[in-house]
Amino acid sequence: MATVTKTIGMNGLEGFVIKVEARILKGVPTMSIIGLADKAIKESRDRIEACFNTMGMRFPKGRIVFNMLPQDVQKSGGYLDLPMFLSLAIECEEINPDHVSLDETVFFGGISLCGDLENFNGMLPMLIQARQNGIRFAVLPNACMAEAVKVHGIQCFGFDNIHDLVEWFEGRMHYTSKSAAATKPPAISNLDFSQVRGQDHLIKFVVAAAAGGHNLLLVGPAGCGKSMIAKRIETILPDMNEDEALEVMAIHSVAGAARNHEDAMRRPFRSVHYNASANAIIGGGTNAKPGEITLAHNGVLFLDELPEFSRAALEALRQPLEDRVVRVARVRHTNVYPANFMLVAAMNPCPCGNFGSGKCICSPHKVRTYRQRISGPILERMDIQKFMNKVDLFEDANARNCVQGKLAADADKSDLSMRTRKPIQNPTNILKPDNPNASVHLKKKVEKARAIQAERFKGHDGVWTNAQMDVTLIDRFCAIDEASSALIQSAHDSNQFSARSYHKILKVARTFADLDGAADIRQEDVVSALLSRDLDRIDATPLKGW
Ligand SMILES: [Zn+2]
Repeated sequence: MATVTKTIGMNGLEGFVIKVEARILKGVPTMSIIGLADKAIKESRDRIEACFNTMGMRFPKGRIVFNMLPQDVQKSGGYLDLPMFLSLAIECEEINPDHVSLDETVFFGGISLCGDLENFNGMLPMLIQARQNGIRFAVLPNACMAEAVKVHGIQCFGFDNIHDLVEWFEGRMHYTSKSAAATKPPAISNLDFSQVRGQDHLIKFVVAAAAGGHNLLLVGPAGCGKSMIAKRIETILPDMNEDEALEVMAIHSVAGAARNHEDAMRRPFRSVHYNASANAIIGGGTNAKPGEITLAHNGVLFLDELPEFSRAALEALRQPLEDRVVRVARVRHTNVYPANFMLVAAMNPCPCGNFGSGKCICSPHKVRTYRQRISGPILERMDIQKFMNKVDLFEDANARNCVQGKLAADADKSDLSMRTRKPIQNPTNILKPDNPNASVHLKKKVEKARAIQAERFKGHDGVWTNAQMDVTLIDRFCAIDEASSALIQSAHDSNQFSARSYHKILKVARTFADLDGAADIRQEDVVSALLSRDLDRIDATPLKGW
């Protein structure tokens, strides 16, 4: 009879139980490891022998065979040291297994030459998988406990070294948890919306995008703060709930991009460079790894310099933006990864970035070609499209007054503007919580609006935010009065809104109403929604002439 211990193997986001069999046969002392084990597993031989030595155990003489089941699935990872050591030590009667239910327990952990249990990536999805397979207990390195305790329904035992583990295993020591001490306090982000100056009028639209989960496109000259704003969106998004956080951690574990435990509840923010390949963005390649859109699941995917992305990459985004999942083809089967993200994109108005300022050196043809790179399907999916003006930041008080004057002048120029003019914040105000644009305040608004949406979409599977409404839901939840309807009609007549924009305007108006806690969409919400589509009404913005 061979001794069997269990652990978990992963294939993409899907896992399976691995049975680690150990048997000692008669013959020349050797160790063979069979069952499609990779190099890291085969190297465990010396570590296991060193561990017997450290523990003062007698290393078996004879032909040692380890078999990994199921035999036809590739296994990888150094965490199989522990189940292999235990199988062998039990098989040669150096350890008594009577105190532990081997059938209901999984073991994970690499072992160092002095018997310490080593940390590794990917603990979380393995434990979720173990729980789904009816496993009740898990034994793992103490360093993995902070991640492990997030999975409910499976009891975890963490150990620093093999000596403590064996003491507990044989019932000579009571288990005491050390996980609480290992947990670090949440990291404090140094990004905050109060650091964004001179763009107060824009923040309202960014908050709406975050509140309704609307995709957002920012167009503006180089240096106007597009990326600065985009990078701060994660600071106003509501924290993830436990299920969402587990899902995200599992994805990141598998991709080998494990998140810090202290960031566990924060939504992911993935900033992708335009040089990235379609495979890197969408997923795929030799290992069929999740791409950036899956790493951005439940969070934000930020594409800066949008027109610079390859046509292939932008085209490939269409299907996941629609379905909120992505199918990555492999040789034998297809991995389906989740990809429910909010797309935030930024672009210059023209290749040189100065369009509209009089300094532009681009020919009309060049400007048109540049814009056409993102026209069509992607542009259609951007609910909120805002043009940003360049704001000069000065250090001295006089210059600040100039900025204030400039902003006031800009406000006067805008005919449709509903914004209230606020005095520019004194820089000493920056990062203080009483700044109305501090992320902490904006986040509260977003959370309130999301709570309203959660209530609204109860019973509608797969819909959490206004942005996800289809035509049926829009008809049901976005009724507007006659005056608002006439307003949209006149905006349509003067600005040539496309028919497709109509539904987007209603969805965004619904979000503005939610942000104010209004049950019905009001005329002012429709105005705000109309103002959120600068690219549709290009004659009213510095984009005139596009
Ligand atoms: Zn230009």
